[in-house]
Amino acid sequence: MTLPGSPHLAYRGASLFIDGCAAASLAQRFGTPLYAYSRASMLESLADYQRALVGRDHLICYAMKANSNLAVLQAFAQAGCGFDIVSGGELERALAAGADPAKIVFSGVGKTRADMRRALEVGVMCFNVESEAELGVLSQVATAIGATANVSLRVNPDVDAGTHPYISTGLKGNKFGIAHEDAVANYVRAADMPGLRVVGIDCHIGSQITDSGPYLDALDRLLDLIEQVEARGIPIRHLDLGGGLGITYTDEAPPSAEALVRSLLERIDARGHGHRKIMFEPGRSLVGNAGVLVSEVLYMKPGREPNGDPAGAGKNFCIVDAAMNDLMRPAMYQAWMGIVACNLRDEPATLCDVVGPVCESGDWLGRERELAVHAGDFVAVLSAGAYGMTMASNYNTRGRAAEVMVCGDQAFLIRDRELPHELFSGEHLLPTA
Ligand SMILES: *Cc1c(COP(=O)(O)O)cnc(C)c1O
Repeated sequence: MTLPGSPHLAYRGASLFIDGCAAASLAQRFGTPLYAYSRASMLESLADYQRALVGRDHLICYAMKANSNLAVLQAFAQAGCGFDIVSGGELERALAAGADPAKIVFSGVGKTRADMRRALEVGVMCFNVESEAELGVLSQVATAIGATANVSLRVNPDVDAGTHPYISTGLKGNKFGIAHEDAVANYVRAADMPGLRVVGIDCHIGSQITDSGPYLDALDRLLDLIEQVEARGIPIRHLDLGGGLGITYTDEAPPSAEALVRSLLERIDARGHGHRKIMFEPGRSLVGNAGVLVSEVLYMKPGREPNGDPAGAGKNFCIVDAAMNDLMRPAMYQAWMGIVACNLRDEPATLCDVVGPVCESGDWLGRERELAVHAGDFVAVLSAGAYGMTMASNYNTRGRAAEVMVCGDQAFLIRDRELPHELFSGEHLLPTA
């Protein structure tokens, strides 16, 4: 039996496997909470994009904020992938994992001068500039060190990606990108500024988008702009359509990356822009379904009998050792993520809320789930490969989880579990009298 999202996650008999490794064995060997990823699943997701782009000048830049473990970046870099970064820290990580700076694009609304300088020194491919003010600062930083910054303007095409407000980024009134109406004027300005070279245009309209419609709308808006900008004698070499393709958490049915890219290329060709370099910045769709968060059931806490009080009636809690600090998506976006037992029991399931040990009522991983588990069993939260570990915090002085990469029937520890003393090793007591 396979599970939603990835053929790399399946039951063999009663045991959940990630490729050739049993989830419960990984939990016993490495401890819990534990993030486990399938390398093959990640590379297949990348190949899905690449297949549609064969024979064209193109670059896939993995949006590494989705999962920035060095081993994940290394796998993608070796497969020819570039990276979309949003901070100086991500730049250092990408370099440490062996990324080619000439395949790095630098996005984000709040780049600091120090970040810009470092990115220019190592020679990133391009800055995705998000405001007029940023153009001015980038021009100053580049001229001060005698460099030239390649720039693409991130345009806000004002299309509704039909996704959660927190992860929708392409609508007016959003902090991201340069308004569509202001784009041409900004290109004209950028073309005249010292230290800058206009090379491209980009957009990123949101995340967990499950339909190609918003992409086609955004594409049309960008192609209109390219025509207007080039009519003013400013050539645009590349067209970067951002990331945002959704994955299957429950019953979503997003287009495959290959189908999405093919429909976009068809429109690009039909409008006579087929010669341009085409770029994408996928994050979630490369890694989301490739990972699970494995956790041990600590306690089963049965609900009290109704006792005349409907509010407190009979809610069962399954208390696990993973919490909102390990996986923020349910608490932050009310996201639904699948939760399954790592070993199926031949007994009736009970309806329960799966919650963590953190002292917040918002600390839940799943509500009203049917599970047949006992204390000591392991459960897996599915589709946890994206925006899982990268959003983890140390709230409640909880060390962050360990991470393993499954390669066939081998598993490699790719991040140590954080230990308590490491959590406060950078803190200082005040001098005593
Ligand atoms: C987050 C982000 C992405 C990736 O988004 P996904 O939904 O994970 O594909 C791409 N580009 C930019 C600029 C981003 O901020």
